[in-house]
Amino acid sequence: MKKATVVGAGLVGSLWAVYLSKRGYKVDVFEARPDMRKASLSAGRSINLALSDRGWKALEKVGLKEQIHEVAIPMHRRVMHAVDGSLTYQPYGKEGQAIYSVSRGGLNQVLMNLAEKEGNVNIHFEQKCQSVDLEKGSATFVNRDTKEKITSAEGLLFGTDGAFSAVRKTMQRTDRFTYSQEYIEHGYKELSILPNPDGSHKIEKNALHIWPRGEFMLIALPNMDGSFTCTLFHPYGGEVGFDALDTDEKVVSFFKNTFPDAYELMPNLLEDWHENPTSSLVIIRCFPWTKNGKVALLGDASHAIVPFYGQGMNAGFEDCTVFDEILDETNEDWPEAMKRYEISRKPNGDAIADLAMRNFVEMRDLTGDAEFLLRKKIERKFSTLHPEKWLPLYSMVTFSHIPYAEAKKEGERQDAIMAKIMSIPNIEERWEDDEIMEKMLELS
Ligand SMILES: Cc1cc2nc3c(=O)[nH]c(=O)nc-3n(C[C@H](O)[C@H](O)[C@H](O)COP(=O)(O)OP(=O)(O)OC[C@H]3O[C@@H](n4cnc5c(N)ncnc54)[C@H](O)[C@@H]3O)c2cc1C
Repeated sequence: MKKATVVGAGLVGSLWAVYLSKRGYKVDVFEARPDMRKASLSAGRSINLALSDRGWKALEKVGLKEQIHEVAIPMHRRVMHAVDGSLTYQPYGKEGQAIYSVSRGGLNQVLMNLAEKEGNVNIHFEQKCQSVDLEKGSATFVNRDTKEKITSAEGLLFGTDGAFSAVRKTMQRTDRFTYSQEYIEHGYKELSILPNPDGSHKIEKNALHIWPRGEFMLIALPNMDGSFTCTLFHPYGGEVGFDALDTDEKVVSFFKNTFPDAYELMPNLLEDWHENPTSSLVIIRCFPWTKNGKVALLGDASHAIVPFYGQGMNAGFEDCTVFDEILDETNEDWPEAMKRYEISRKPNGDAIADLAMRNFVEMRDLTGDAEFLLRKKIERKFSTLHPEKWLPLYSMVTFSHIPYAEAKKEGERQDAIMAKIMSIPNIEERWEDDEIMEKMLELS
Protein backbone atom coordinates (compact mmCIF):
# COMPACT_ATOMS: atom_id res chain seq x y z
CA MET A 1 0.00 0.00 0.00
CA LYS A 2 1.16 3.57 -0.77
CA LYS A 3 2.42 5.41 2.32
CA ALA A 4 2.59 9.01 3.49
CA THR A 5 3.64 10.84 6.65
CA VAL A 6 1.93 13.97 7.95
CA VAL A 7 3.61 16.12 10.61
CA GLY A 8 1.02 17.91 12.79
CA ALA A 9 -2.61 16.92 13.41
CA GLY A 10 -3.95 20.46 13.57
CA LEU A 11 -6.80 21.62 11.36
CA VAL A 12 -4.95 21.32 8.06
CA GLY A 13 -2.95 18.16 8.88
CA SER A 14 -6.05 16.24 10.00
CA LEU A 15 -7.95 17.27 6.88
CA TRP A 16 -5.03 16.50 4.56
CA ALA A 17 -4.72 13.03 6.12
CA VAL A 18 -8.35 12.41 5.12
CA TYR A 19 -7.63 13.51 1.55
CA LEU A 20 -4.58 11.24 1.32
CA SER A 21 -6.47 8.33 2.79
CA LYS A 22 -9.24 8.77 0.22
CA ARG A 23 -6.52 8.47 -2.43
CA GLY A 24 -5.58 5.08 -1.05
CA TYR A 25 -2.60 6.02 1.12
CA LYS A 26 -1.75 4.55 4.47
CA VAL A 27 -1.10 7.70 6.47
CA ASP A 28 0.88 8.11 9.67
CA VAL A 29 0.20 11.44 11.37
CA PHE A 30 2.55 12.56 14.13
CA GLU A 31 1.33 15.22 16.54
CA ALA A 32 3.44 16.85 19.27
CA ARG A 33 0.52 17.45 21.64
CA PRO A 34 -1.57 14.91 23.55
CA ASP A 35 -4.91 13.80 22.09
CA MET A 36 -7.30 16.73 22.61
CA ARG A 37 -10.28 14.35 22.44
CA LYS A 38 -9.43 12.90 25.85
CA ALA A 39 -11.98 14.25 28.33
CA SER A 40 -9.53 16.07 30.55
CA LEU A 41 -8.22 18.07 27.61
CA SER A 42 -11.42 18.81 25.75
CA ALA A 43 -12.96 20.73 28.67
CA GLY A 44 -12.13 24.39 29.05
CA ARG A 45 -12.72 27.60 27.20
CA SER A 46 -14.13 27.69 23.70
CA ILE A 47 -12.09 29.31 20.99
CA ASN A 48 -13.80 29.84 17.69
CA LEU A 49 -12.94 30.59 14.11
CA ALA A 50 -14.80 32.04 11.17
CA LEU A 51 -15.34 29.41 8.50
CA SER A 52 -16.26 30.62 5.02
CA ASP A 53 -16.76 29.31 1.48
CA ARG A 54 -13.20 28.14 0.79
CA GLY A 55 -13.20 26.12 3.99
CA TRP A 56 -16.69 24.74 3.35
CA LYS A 57 -15.64 23.52 -0.09
CA ALA A 58 -12.76 21.52 1.39
CA LEU A 59 -15.04 20.00 4.04
CA GLU A 60 -17.76 19.22 1.51
CA LYS A 61 -15.32 17.28 -0.64
CA VAL A 62 -14.78 14.82 2.20
CA GLY A 63 -18.45 14.69 3.16
CA LEU A 64 -18.24 16.79 6.31
CA LYS A 65 -20.37 19.77 5.37
CA GLU A 66 -23.61 18.62 7.01
CA GLN A 67 -21.97 17.54 10.24
CA ILE A 68 -20.15 20.84 10.74
CA HIS A 69 -23.20 22.88 9.69
CA GLU A 70 -25.05 21.51 12.70
CA VAL A 71 -22.54 23.09 15.09
CA ALA A 72 -21.75 26.25 13.12
CA ILE A 73 -23.41 29.57 13.87
CA PRO A 74 -24.08 31.76 10.83
CA MET A 75 -22.97 35.36 11.24
CA HIS A 76 -24.79 37.43 8.62
CA ARG A 77 -23.44 40.81 9.53
CA ARG A 78 -20.98 42.90 11.44
CA VAL A 79 -22.39 44.79 14.39
CA MET A 80 -20.22 47.76 15.26
CA HIS A 81 -20.33 49.06 18.83
CA ALA A 82 -19.46 52.74 19.25
CA VAL A 83 -18.10 54.14 22.54
CA ASP A 84 -21.51 55.67 23.33
CA GLY A 85 -23.11 52.24 22.94
CA SER A 86 -24.80 52.99 19.61
CA LEU A 87 -24.79 50.20 17.05
CA THR A 88 -24.29 50.19 13.29
CA TYR A 89 -24.72 47.22 11.02
CA GLN A 90 -23.04 45.99 7.90
CA PRO A 91 -24.16 42.85 6.08
CA TYR A 92 -21.30 40.57 5.05
CA GLY A 93 -22.69 39.70 1.68
CA LYS A 94 -25.94 39.20 -0.16
CA GLU A 95 -29.06 38.01 1.59
CA GLY A 96 -28.52 34.45 2.82
CA GLN A 97 -24.72 34.71 2.81
CA ALA A 98 -22.86 34.35 6.08
CA ILE A 99 -19.57 33.44 7.64
CA TYR A 100 -19.81 30.76 10.31
CA SER A 101 -18.50 30.64 13.84
CA VAL A 102 -17.16 27.16 14.65
CA SER A 103 -15.27 25.80 17.62
CA ARG A 104 -11.60 25.33 16.75
CA GLY A 105 -11.21 22.33 19.06
CA GLY A 106 -14.55 20.86 18.00
CA LEU A 107 -13.67 21.06 14.31
CA ASN A 108 -10.20 19.61 14.88
CA GLN A 109 -11.70 16.71 16.80
CA VAL A 110 -14.26 15.95 14.08
CA LEU A 111 -11.47 15.96 11.50
CA MET A 112 -9.33 13.61 13.59
CA ASN A 113 -12.28 11.26 14.09
CA LEU A 114 -12.98 11.24 10.39
CA ALA A 115 -9.32 10.61 9.58
CA GLU A 116 -9.24 7.62 11.91
CA LYS A 117 -12.57 6.33 10.64
CA GLU A 118 -11.06 6.15 7.18
CA GLY A 119 -9.17 3.11 8.45
CA ASN A 120 -5.84 3.93 6.83
CA VAL A 121 -4.91 6.83 9.10
CA ASN A 122 -3.01 6.41 12.36
CA ILE A 123 -2.50 9.47 14.53
CA HIS A 124 0.45 9.16 16.90
CA PHE A 125 0.22 11.69 19.72
CA GLU A 126 2.95 13.24 21.84
CA GLN A 127 5.44 12.68 19.04
CA LYS A 128 7.42 15.78 18.33
CA CYS A 129 9.19 16.11 15.01
CA GLN A 130 12.87 16.53 15.75
CA SER A 131 14.57 16.16 12.41
CA VAL A 132 13.67 15.73 8.78
CA ASP A 133 15.42 13.91 5.95
CA LEU A 134 14.44 15.86 2.85
CA GLU A 135 16.13 13.39 0.50
CA LYS A 136 14.28 10.39 1.83
CA GLY A 137 11.00 12.14 2.67
CA SER A 138 10.93 10.94 6.26
CA ALA A 139 11.19 12.44 9.73
CA THR A 140 12.26 11.43 13.21
CA PHE A 141 9.99 11.97 16.19
CA VAL A 142 10.65 11.95 19.93
CA ASN A 143 8.03 10.67 22.34
CA ARG A 144 7.25 13.33 24.94
CA ASP A 145 7.23 10.92 27.88
CA THR A 146 9.54 8.05 27.05
CA LYS A 147 11.95 10.11 24.90
CA GLU A 148 11.98 7.14 22.55
CA LYS A 149 12.69 8.01 18.90
CA ILE A 150 10.95 6.70 15.82
CA THR A 151 11.56 7.42 12.15
CA SER A 152 8.69 7.46 9.67
CA ALA A 153 8.55 5.48 6.45
CA GLU A 154 10.45 6.93 3.51
CA GLY A 155 8.48 8.46 0.67
CA LEU A 156 6.06 11.35 0.98
CA LEU A 157 6.25 13.79 3.89
CA PHE A 158 3.85 16.67 4.54
CA GLY A 159 4.60 19.51 6.93
CA THR A 160 1.33 20.74 8.42
CA ASP A 161 2.98 21.67 11.68
CA GLY A 162 1.94 25.30 11.80
CA ALA A 163 3.68 28.66 11.83
CA PHE A 164 6.80 27.35 13.58
CA SER A 165 7.05 24.24 11.44
CA ALA A 166 9.94 21.86 12.10
CA VAL A 167 9.69 20.57 8.54
CA ARG A 168 10.09 24.10 7.18
CA LYS A 169 13.01 24.73 9.54
CA THR A 170 14.93 21.94 7.84
CA MET A 171 14.02 23.34 4.42
CA GLN A 172 15.25 26.76 5.57
CA ARG A 173 18.76 25.35 5.79
CA THR A 174 18.80 24.40 2.10
CA ASP A 175 20.28 26.60 -0.60
CA ARG A 176 18.13 29.45 -1.98
CA PHE A 177 15.29 28.92 0.47
CA THR A 178 13.65 32.31 0.97
CA TYR A 179 12.07 33.03 4.31
CA SER A 180 10.69 35.97 6.24
CA GLN A 181 9.05 36.30 9.62
CA GLU A 182 7.42 39.50 10.79
CA TYR A 183 5.76 40.15 14.12
CA ILE A 184 3.21 42.92 14.02
CA GLU A 185 2.97 45.52 16.81
CA HIS A 186 -0.27 44.03 18.06
CA GLY A 187 -0.85 40.91 20.07
CA TYR A 188 -4.13 39.42 21.24
CA LYS A 189 -5.86 38.11 24.31
CA GLU A 190 -8.95 35.94 24.43
CA LEU A 191 -11.76 36.99 26.76
CA SER A 192 -15.41 35.96 27.01
CA ILE A 193 -19.00 37.06 27.39
CA LEU A 194 -20.82 34.36 29.31
CA PRO A 195 -24.41 33.27 28.48
CA ASN A 196 -27.54 34.50 30.22
CA PRO A 197 -28.73 32.22 33.04
CA ASP A 198 -31.18 30.59 30.59
CA GLY A 199 -28.34 29.78 28.16
CA SER A 200 -29.23 32.46 25.61
CA HIS A 201 -26.73 34.88 24.07
CA LYS A 202 -26.37 38.28 25.75
CA ILE A 203 -25.98 40.16 22.45
CA GLU A 204 -27.16 39.42 18.91
CA LYS A 205 -26.25 35.82 18.21
CA ASN A 206 -25.99 35.73 14.40
CA ALA A 207 -23.40 38.44 14.06
CA LEU A 208 -19.73 39.18 14.46
CA HIS A 209 -19.43 42.04 16.94
CA ILE A 210 -16.70 44.64 16.60
CA TRP A 211 -15.68 47.44 18.90
CA PRO A 212 -13.39 49.42 16.53
CA ARG A 213 -11.21 51.91 18.38
CA GLY A 214 -8.37 52.80 16.05
CA GLU A 215 -5.29 51.30 17.68
CA PHE A 216 -7.38 48.82 19.65
CA MET A 217 -10.08 46.45 18.58
CA LEU A 218 -12.29 44.01 20.40
CA ILE A 219 -14.29 41.40 18.51
CA ALA A 220 -16.76 38.73 19.64
CA LEU A 221 -17.90 35.54 17.89
CA PRO A 222 -20.82 33.45 19.18
CA ASN A 223 -20.54 29.93 20.59
CA MET A 224 -23.22 27.23 20.66
CA ASP A 225 -23.40 27.33 24.49
CA GLY A 226 -24.63 30.94 24.53
CA SER A 227 -21.24 32.46 25.24
CA PHE A 228 -19.09 34.65 23.00
CA THR A 229 -15.36 34.31 22.57
CA CYS A 230 -13.95 37.82 22.50
CA THR A 231 -10.52 38.73 21.23
CA LEU A 232 -8.79 41.94 22.13
CA PHE A 233 -6.27 42.96 19.45
CA HIS A 234 -4.01 45.42 21.12
CA PRO A 235 -0.50 46.88 20.76
CA TYR A 236 2.18 45.73 23.18
CA GLY A 237 3.64 49.21 23.59
CA GLY A 238 2.16 52.67 24.17
CA GLU A 239 0.42 54.33 27.08
CA VAL A 240 -2.30 51.73 27.43
CA GLY A 241 -0.64 48.88 25.53
CA PHE A 242 -0.51 45.35 26.93
CA ASP A 243 2.78 46.08 28.70
CA ALA A 244 1.33 49.13 30.45
CA LEU A 245 -1.88 47.40 31.60
CA ASP A 246 -0.06 45.88 34.55
CA THR A 247 -2.60 46.23 37.36
CA ASP A 248 -6.24 45.19 37.69
CA GLU A 249 -7.23 48.84 38.14
CA LYS A 250 -5.62 49.81 34.84
CA VAL A 251 -7.30 46.96 32.98
CA VAL A 252 -10.72 47.82 34.41
CA SER A 253 -10.30 51.51 33.76
CA PHE A 254 -9.17 50.85 30.17
CA PHE A 255 -12.19 48.66 29.47
CA LYS A 256 -14.66 51.01 31.17
CA ASN A 257 -13.43 53.93 29.08
CA THR A 258 -12.81 52.16 25.79
CA PHE A 259 -15.44 49.41 25.58
CA PRO A 260 -18.09 50.51 28.12
CA ASP A 261 -20.97 48.37 26.80
CA ALA A 262 -18.74 45.29 26.49
CA TYR A 263 -17.37 45.88 29.98
CA GLU A 264 -20.89 45.63 31.39
CA LEU A 265 -21.22 42.20 29.78
CA MET A 266 -17.91 40.91 31.15
CA PRO A 267 -18.04 40.50 34.93
CA ASN A 268 -15.43 37.78 34.41
CA LEU A 269 -13.01 40.17 32.67
CA LEU A 270 -10.19 40.05 35.22
CA GLU A 271 -10.39 36.29 35.62
CA ASP A 272 -10.02 35.86 31.83
CA TRP A 273 -7.35 38.52 31.68
CA HIS A 274 -5.14 36.66 34.12
CA GLU A 275 -5.93 33.17 32.93
CA ASN A 276 -5.41 33.68 29.20
CA PRO A 277 -2.03 34.42 27.72
CA THR A 278 -1.15 37.45 25.66
CA SER A 279 -0.15 36.00 22.31
CA SER A 280 1.79 37.50 19.44
CA LEU A 281 0.81 37.66 15.76
CA VAL A 282 3.24 36.69 13.07
CA ILE A 283 3.33 36.76 9.27
CA ILE A 284 5.50 34.09 7.69
CA ARG A 285 6.35 33.87 4.01
CA CYS A 286 8.65 31.37 2.40
CA PHE A 287 9.50 29.65 -0.85
CA PRO A 288 9.76 26.95 -2.13
CA TRP A 289 6.99 25.04 -0.38
CA THR A 290 8.16 21.65 -1.65
CA LYS A 291 11.42 19.73 -1.87
CA ASN A 292 12.68 16.87 -4.01
CA GLY A 293 9.18 15.96 -5.16
CA LYS A 294 8.73 14.26 -1.78
CA VAL A 295 8.20 16.93 0.87
CA ALA A 296 5.52 19.64 0.89
CA LEU A 297 4.27 22.31 3.29
CA LEU A 298 0.57 23.11 3.68
CA GLY A 299 -1.35 25.54 5.89
CA ASP A 300 0.37 27.90 8.32
CA ALA A 301 3.67 26.08 7.80
CA SER A 302 3.85 27.69 4.37
CA HIS A 303 1.82 30.89 4.90
CA ALA A 304 1.08 32.15 8.40
CA ILE A 305 -1.01 35.31 8.21
CA VAL A 306 -2.66 37.69 10.66
CA PRO A 307 -6.24 36.71 11.52
CA PHE A 308 -8.08 39.84 10.40
CA TYR A 309 -9.71 38.40 7.30
CA GLY A 310 -10.68 35.18 9.05
CA GLN A 311 -8.86 33.31 6.28
CA GLY A 312 -5.86 31.46 7.78
CA MET A 313 -7.61 28.13 8.20
CA ASN A 314 -9.74 28.68 5.10
CA ALA A 315 -6.57 29.24 3.05
CA GLY A 316 -4.99 26.11 4.55
CA PHE A 317 -8.10 24.09 3.69
CA GLU A 318 -7.96 25.51 0.18
CA ASP A 319 -4.36 24.26 -0.08
CA CYS A 320 -5.83 20.77 0.38
CA THR A 321 -8.52 21.13 -2.30
CA VAL A 322 -6.16 22.71 -4.81
CA PHE A 323 -3.41 20.13 -4.20
CA ASP A 324 -5.99 17.36 -4.55
CA GLU A 325 -7.22 18.77 -7.87
CA ILE A 326 -3.63 19.00 -9.14
CA LEU A 327 -3.03 15.38 -8.14
CA ASP A 328 -6.02 14.42 -10.31
CA GLU A 329 -4.69 16.48 -13.22
CA THR A 330 -1.19 14.97 -12.99
CA ASN A 331 -2.32 11.42 -12.37
CA GLU A 332 -0.51 11.57 -9.03
CA ASP A 333 2.84 12.38 -10.51
CA TRP A 334 4.09 13.76 -7.18
CA PRO A 335 7.17 15.70 -8.33
CA GLU A 336 5.11 17.40 -11.06
CA ALA A 337 2.12 17.95 -8.74
CA MET A 338 4.31 19.49 -6.03
CA LYS A 339 5.81 21.95 -8.51
CA ARG A 340 2.39 22.95 -9.81
CA TYR A 341 1.00 23.21 -6.27
CA GLU A 342 3.64 25.63 -5.01
CA ILE A 343 3.61 27.72 -8.17
CA SER A 344 -0.15 28.11 -8.08
CA ARG A 345 -0.50 28.64 -4.32
CA LYS A 346 2.43 30.89 -3.43
CA PRO A 347 1.05 34.10 -5.05
CA ASN A 348 -2.25 33.42 -3.32
CA GLY A 349 -0.57 32.94 0.06
CA ASP A 350 1.19 36.26 -0.40
CA ALA A 351 -2.00 38.00 -1.51
CA ILE A 352 -4.08 36.85 1.45
CA ALA A 353 -1.24 37.86 3.81
CA ASP A 354 -1.43 41.40 2.39
CA LEU A 355 -5.22 41.47 2.34
CA ALA A 356 -5.40 40.32 5.96
CA MET A 357 -3.15 43.17 7.10
CA ARG A 358 -5.22 45.62 5.08
CA ASN A 359 -8.43 44.31 6.64
CA PHE A 360 -7.00 45.02 10.09
CA VAL A 361 -6.90 48.70 9.23
CA GLU A 362 -10.41 48.44 7.82
CA MET A 363 -11.80 46.70 10.89
CA ARG A 364 -10.17 48.75 13.59
CA ASP A 365 -10.28 52.21 11.97
CA LEU A 366 -12.87 52.23 9.29
CA THR A 367 -15.82 50.14 10.40
CA GLY A 368 -16.74 53.07 12.62
CA ASP A 369 -16.17 55.61 9.87
CA ALA A 370 -19.16 57.18 8.08
CA GLU A 371 -17.37 57.62 4.76
CA PHE A 372 -16.26 54.01 4.74
CA LEU A 373 -19.78 52.78 5.51
CA LEU A 374 -21.15 54.97 2.71
CA ARG A 375 -18.60 53.55 0.28
CA LYS A 376 -19.71 50.05 1.21
CA LYS A 377 -23.37 50.98 0.65
CA ILE A 378 -22.63 52.41 -2.80
CA GLU A 379 -20.63 49.32 -3.76
CA ARG A 380 -23.40 47.05 -2.54
CA LYS A 381 -26.02 48.92 -4.53
CA PHE A 382 -23.93 48.81 -7.71
CA SER A 383 -23.11 45.17 -7.19
CA THR A 384 -26.82 44.34 -6.85
CA LEU A 385 -27.61 46.25 -10.05
CA HIS A 386 -24.62 44.89 -12.00
CA PRO A 387 -23.43 41.68 -10.36
CA GLU A 388 -21.42 40.78 -13.47
CA LYS A 389 -19.43 44.01 -13.15
CA TRP A 390 -18.77 44.22 -9.45
CA LEU A 391 -18.18 41.69 -6.71
CA PRO A 392 -16.98 43.50 -3.57
CA LEU A 393 -13.50 42.49 -2.40
CA TYR A 394 -14.82 41.04 0.85
CA SER A 395 -17.18 38.80 -1.12
CA MET A 396 -14.43 37.70 -3.51
CA VAL A 397 -12.27 36.64 -0.57
CA THR A 398 -14.99 35.17 1.59
CA PHE A 399 -17.81 33.96 -0.64
CA SER A 400 -15.97 32.89 -3.78
CA HIS A 401 -13.17 30.64 -4.94
CA ILE A 402 -11.49 33.31 -7.04
CA PRO A 403 -7.75 32.95 -6.33
CA TYR A 404 -6.73 35.43 -3.61
CA ALA A 405 -4.16 37.08 -5.91
CA GLU A 406 -6.84 37.83 -8.53
CA ALA A 407 -9.19 39.12 -5.84
CA LYS A 408 -6.48 41.44 -4.56
CA LYS A 409 -5.85 42.83 -8.04
CA GLU A 410 -9.54 43.36 -8.70
CA GLY A 411 -9.83 45.05 -5.28
CA GLU A 412 -7.14 47.54 -6.29
CA ARG A 413 -9.04 48.35 -9.47
CA GLN A 414 -12.20 48.90 -7.42
CA ASP A 415 -10.33 51.15 -4.98
CA ALA A 416 -9.30 53.44 -7.82
CA ILE A 417 -12.91 53.68 -9.07
CA MET A 418 -14.32 54.28 -5.60
CA ALA A 419 -11.78 57.02 -4.92
CA LYS A 420 -13.27 58.89 -7.90
CA ILE A 421 -16.85 58.24 -6.82
CA MET A 422 -16.24 59.29 -3.21
CA SER A 423 -14.69 62.56 -4.38
CA ILE A 424 -17.93 63.62 -6.11
CA PRO A 425 -19.19 66.71 -4.23
CA ASN A 426 -22.02 65.96 -1.75
CA ILE A 427 -21.78 62.25 -2.44
CA GLU A 428 -23.38 61.53 0.95
CA GLU A 429 -26.60 63.17 -0.28
CA ARG A 430 -26.46 62.06 -3.89
CA TRP A 431 -25.32 58.47 -3.62
CA GLU A 432 -28.73 57.02 -4.45
CA ASP A 433 -29.11 59.12 -7.62
CA ASP A 434 -29.12 57.27 -10.92
CA GLU A 435 -26.24 59.37 -12.23
CA ILE A 436 -23.91 57.93 -9.55
CA MET A 437 -24.67 54.40 -10.69
CA GLU A 438 -24.22 55.54 -14.29
CA LYS A 439 -20.84 57.02 -13.42
CA MET A 440 -19.80 53.75 -11.80
CA LEU A 441 -20.91 51.84 -14.84
CA GLU A 442 -18.87 54.12 -17.04
CA LEU A 443 -15.76 53.66 -14.86
CA SER A 444 -16.09 49.88 -14.43
C1 LIG B 1 -6.40 34.76 17.13
C2 LIG B 1 -6.54 33.98 15.86
C3 LIG B 1 -7.77 33.94 15.23
C4 LIG B 1 -7.92 33.23 14.03
N1 LIG B 1 -9.12 33.26 13.42
C5 LIG B 1 -9.29 32.62 12.24
C6 LIG B 1 -10.55 32.63 11.58
O1 LIG B 1 -11.52 33.22 12.06
N2 LIG B 1 -10.66 31.95 10.40
C7 LIG B 1 -9.61 31.31 9.84
O2 LIG B 1 -9.77 30.74 8.75
N3 LIG B 1 -8.41 31.28 10.44
C8 LIG B 1 -8.22 31.90 11.62
N4 LIG B 1 -7.01 31.88 12.25
C9 LIG B 1 -5.88 31.16 11.61
C10 LIG B 1 -5.92 29.67 11.92
O3 LIG B 1 -5.91 29.48 13.29
C11 LIG B 1 -4.72 29.00 11.29
O4 LIG B 1 -4.55 29.42 9.97
C12 LIG B 1 -4.90 27.48 11.32
O5 LIG B 1 -4.96 27.03 12.64
C13 LIG B 1 -3.73 26.81 10.59
O6 LIG B 1 -3.85 25.42 10.69
P1 LIG B 1 -2.58 24.49 10.58
O7 LIG B 1 -3.11 23.10 10.75
O8 LIG B 1 -1.81 24.85 9.39
O9 LIG B 1 -1.67 24.88 11.82
P2 LIG B 1 -1.97 24.70 13.38
O10 LIG B 1 -3.40 24.89 13.66
O11 LIG B 1 -0.99 25.57 14.07
O12 LIG B 1 -1.61 23.17 13.66
C14 LIG B 1 -0.28 22.71 13.66
C15 LIG B 1 -0.22 21.40 14.44
O13 LIG B 1 1.10 20.89 14.35
C16 LIG B 1 1.54 20.48 15.63
N5 LIG B 1 3.01 20.64 15.67
C17 LIG B 1 3.74 21.78 15.72
N6 LIG B 1 5.07 21.50 15.73
C18 LIG B 1 5.17 20.15 15.69
C19 LIG B 1 6.27 19.26 15.70
N7 LIG B 1 7.54 19.70 15.76
N8 LIG B 1 6.02 17.93 15.65
C20 LIG B 1 4.75 17.45 15.60
N9 LIG B 1 3.66 18.25 15.61
C21 LIG B 1 3.86 19.59 15.65
C22 LIG B 1 0.84 21.44 16.59
O14 LIG B 1 0.77 20.90 17.89
C23 LIG B 1 -0.53 21.58 15.92
O15 LIG B 1 -1.43 20.59 16.33
C24 LIG B 1 -6.82 32.55 13.46
C25 LIG B 1 -5.59 32.57 14.10
C26 LIG B 1 -5.45 33.29 15.28
C27 LIG B 1 -4.11 33.31 15.95
